[in-house]
Amino acid sequence: MAEGPDVHVRRRVLVTGGAGFIGRNYVRFLLDADPAVRVVTLDALTYAGSSENLIDVERAHPDRHRFVHGDVADDALVGRLLLDDGIDTVVHLAAETHVDRSIDDPAAFIHSNVTGTFVLLEAARRAWGGRRDVRFHHVSTDEVFGTLADDGKFTEDTAYDPSSPYSASKASSDHLVRAWHRTFGLPVTISNCSNNYGPYQFPEKLIPLMIRNALAGRRLPVYGDGRNVRDWLYVEDHCRAIDLIVRRGAAGRTYNVGGNCERTNLETVTRICDLVDEHRPAAGHRCRSLIEFVTDRPGHDLRYAIDATRLHDELGWRPRQTFEDGLRRTVAWYVEHADWIDAVMRGRYGGERLGVL
Ligand code: NAD
Repeated sequence: MAEGPDVHVRRRVLVTGGAGFIGRNYVRFLLDADPAVRVVTLDALTYAGSSENLIDVERAHPDRHRFVHGDVADDALVGRLLLDDGIDTVVHLAAETHVDRSIDDPAAFIHSNVTGTFVLLEAARRAWGGRRDVRFHHVSTDEVFGTLADDGKFTEDTAYDPSSPYSASKASSDHLVRAWHRTFGLPVTISNCSNNYGPYQFPEKLIPLMIRNALAGRRLPVYGDGRNVRDWLYVEDHCRAIDLIVRRGAAGRTYNVGGNCERTNLETVTRICDLVDEHRPAAGHRCRSLIEFVTDRPGHDLRYAIDATRLHDELGWRPRQTFEDGLRRTVAWYVEHADWIDAVMRGRYGGERLGVL
């Protein structure tokens, strides 16, 4: 890890979207790592966020965590939270996040991702005035850069070229955050991360959906020819990166975060199949036989790959979890948490195909 003091010491942190996948893992990580920190989680509990996700956090840290049910685009609520709780750090994860849903209902993405980020930035500007001992960290995605051909990687200088309503809304929010730094001097950082996987990911995204379907013997729909490439990062590695950037990242700076772990979607799904087979030897068939190629996603980006050199060279970060071990842990977690899968999907999502024009 890079030497040197923290440039920002977080004490009272507002985590938006903390009842979702990465947010929940980050809240737990932060409270476990720092006995001095207090966390307020703000989450609208959309279909993707669940109070179930925070049960163990509340149990482990009852005095240092508070949950607030609400919308990041609620100006009055957000302004009050920042002042009343003496917030010195915002880690902004709240967003609509599923590309397929952004094809079906882009309006929700503009509301949460664009308007929500704008409201939060303005509230922080009002609450913090010209303070420099504060930090607004915005968690974003590599999808803002669009698609890559067979070689090359996204760097922090790659031009934005989003393809989907989701990635366009995230690109918009990144621009807002950067502008609030340049124009108003708000001490911000931004991270653009590749695809995450791990516990508590809602079973609509590729890895948990395939695990859930494979465990139940349902078909495994792979978009197009399965040759789209994603760079996978275990969620704990992302949480460590966010933490480092918040504490040591330079205000106004952007950091790419990636796993250096490119896999075609078909490779990922077949590996999941083999791991699931280990858990259900009596199933009578191999999970790979459940794979089915389906119509591609409109505007489907071919390849993402991240160059995370800046984060490594400046802050000493590198991923710790290999894809093989991380995927094994993830499959085991979903096997052990069948009740969680049922609870979070009930009445919200039945596993059907989304985002078809
Ligand atoms: P998620 O969908 O699992 O969780 C999002 C959370 O935000 C949910 O708990 C939801 O209830 C909440 N939310 C949505 N709209 C809200 C609103 N208006 N007000 C308050 N809360 C709201 O998403 P995730 O995968 O955990 O992603 C978190 C963040 O990380 C997002 O900003 C996403 O763009 C970014 N990101 C995700 C990945 C990934 O692979 N999952 C990769 C890079 C960046």
